[in-house]
Amino acid sequence: NAKDAGRNAYRFFDEQMNRRAQEHMMLQNRLHQALYRAELQLHYQPQVNAADGRVTGVEALLRWRNPELGEVPPARFIPVAEDCGLIVPIGAWVIEQSCRQAQAWRQAGLPDLTLSVNLSALQFRRAGLIETIAGALERSGLPPQLLELELTESILLQDVENTLEAVRQLKAMGVRLSIDDFGTGYSSLSYLKRFAVDRLKIDQSFVRDISTDPDDAAIARAIIQLAHSLRLGIIAEGVETQEQLAFLREAGCSEVQGYLFSKPLPPAELEAFLRRR
Ligand code: C2E
Ligand code: MG
Ligand code: MG
Ligand code: MG
Repeated sequence: NAKDAGRNAYRFFDEQMNRRAQEHMMLQNRLHQALYRAELQLHYQPQVNAADGRVTGVEALLRWRNPELGEVPPARFIPVAEDCGLIVPIGAWVIEQSCRQAQAWRQAGLPDLTLSVNLSALQFRRAGLIETIAGALERSGLPPQLLELELTESILLQDVENTLEAVRQLKAMGVRLSIDDFGTGYSSLSYLKRFAVDRLKIDQSFVRDISTDPDDAAIARAIIQLAHSLRLGIIAEGVETQEQLAFLREAGCSEVQGYLFSKPLPPAELEAFLRRR
């Protein structure tokens, strides 16, 4: 009867929640050790000029390989790291490590590339972000103009006054700012101006069906035009096919990133990729 069914459904959700909580705890414990056991690595994905195919930058993306769990995707462990605060030391490691790597490539004679690094909201809410970034730039010697921080729309909408102050200090250092996954959050267009954003990143959900879905095509075009009107840079992510590239190029998107050019690569492979081109 209905009562039993209700009870069973409840038990089912209860068990499911339990399992999820347990997995969360398990990941949290292992993530604690991951940093010190050198299980974290950065891969780098090229960003390419849509007109001539030149590589203009790289995005640093976290990878976690655990001896028991194997390769754990960021979509699974980043939310856990954000929940328990570990994203703060892990994020600091990402900034330090990627700035060193970018500077090492310059010193090895590769052309200057922009380094894009993803930031989480919690990194803005905890003290020390400015010092972490200033310190990483100083220790590595990487020029601040070559560092771009990728923020999401939700970061700009939380705790606006403190975030504005942090962004003001970062911009004063010369660091650049981009909005990741643009169009998927609550876009408040006035923030683009207030935060002195440098570049918009069209989310891959609009790119996927860009050449077949008129709505996605319209959204992508609108974002590109918005960027042009505000004199912001524009890059599309998740570009996998020639059709998508052709559409984006025709629509005026100056830069692209995606499997069509390369997946994110370990440093040595990225360097080989750059030298081949
Ligand atoms: P994101 O910053 O939007 O990064 C783009 C994601 O799309 C990456 O997934 C990348 O590997 C993937 N990708 C690139 N080209 C293509 C393509 O052509 N097709 C498809 N289907 N996917 C493509 P990944 O590496 O799994 O990272 C997922 C998310 O995890 C990132 O999304 C970012 O939000 C977060 N993340 C990764 N590294 C860091 C980090 O160091 N710090 C923080 N806070 N977040 C990070
Ligand atoms: Mg990103
Ligand atoms: Mg993105
Ligand atoms: Mg994302």
